[in-house]
Amino acid sequence: MDQQRACNADPPVDMTSTAEARSNPSHQASDAYASAASRDRTAGGIKKALVDLLPPAMIVAVVLFWMFGPQAWIKNDWSLIVVGGLITAFVLALEGLFERHVGWRLNKKEFATDLFYVLLSYTVITWVSVKLAEEPLRAVKKSLGITTEWAAHMPFLAQVALVVFLIEFGQYWMHRLMHNWTPFWLTHAPHHHITQLNAMKGYVGNPVELFLISLSVVALFDVQQPALFCAINILGVVSTFAHANVRSDPPLFYSFFFTTIRHHSLHHSVGYEETRCNYANSLILIDRVLGTYREGEGILVGQDERKRLTIWEQFLFPFVPIIAAIKTKRRKTQPAAG
Ligand SMILES: [Zn+2]
Ligand SMILES: [Zn+2]
Repeated sequence: MDQQRACNADPPVDMTSTAEARSNPSHQASDAYASAASRDRTAGGIKKALVDLLPPAMIVAVVLFWMFGPQAWIKNDWSLIVVGGLITAFVLALEGLFERHVGWRLNKKEFATDLFYVLLSYTVITWVSVKLAEEPLRAVKKSLGITTEWAAHMPFLAQVALVVFLIEFGQYWMHRLMHNWTPFWLTHAPHHHITQLNAMKGYVGNPVELFLISLSVVALFDVQQPALFCAINILGVVSTFAHANVRSDPPLFYSFFFTTIRHHSLHHSVGYEETRCNYANSLILIDRVLGTYREGEGILVGQDERKRLTIWEQFLFPFVPIIAAIKTKRRKTQPAAG
């Protein structure tokens, strides 16, 4: 906007112009235009560079908070949710300021659906995941006498890196399985039926998928709670930006390791085959190492006819083939009327 305004403004008059320039008004005007355009380009370049640095800057901020924040906050379980919520709210605000694609602009319906899934994830999905996965895993660990106290004695950043890797490596394989085996694809497909990308879209999906993707072996490792929360918030920063409609393209020191909107929008491309790359939610390095990385960017996202699914359709999606089969069977067994 600023740039546009500056371009439309009258060119500034250069009072120090040479006599030669003064004697040739057309040269003077074109020189003034050129310098104004150059200043605009410089200002635009600096602004873009700063926006591009936002994802790594937010990761640094998250790490500093969990390393040096007030103890009362660090020890409070709610801090994980508060920081997570602030990350989402901040990236949402960035969508308004630095929009990437007009076609992805958030409307009330999209916002309400996305918010529903954020709340579902923070409540039901988290509860089910703790009860059905985390607690049984801890019980098995205890009964087998497995101790991993060494993990808590590692340097803070090493603990954070361990958690990030464990969660991401598990998610990578689960996600890859979902793109390679129909029963699992049916649970994941609703996430691919979203027709635009936004900050909260990472939460949108069938509840079965949301549960499956939440599974991890982190409970087996006795890392300190602040390191665990720090890692979860870092993954939150990366995956929120990787789904967001924000014109931020972080430099290679970030995008070599972490998933960006370019990588993930390509994963959301229309067409099933096109989606089979860039599986890592946050750690794109895993795709690079395991040969599933693809370079590029997607703008048109969705599946099939790019029909947007309602929440009800998203919930029902994996069961549609079974429901259809039952209906067909019933129809065959029913005696013909008349
Ligand atoms: Zn996928
Ligand atoms: Zn996604």
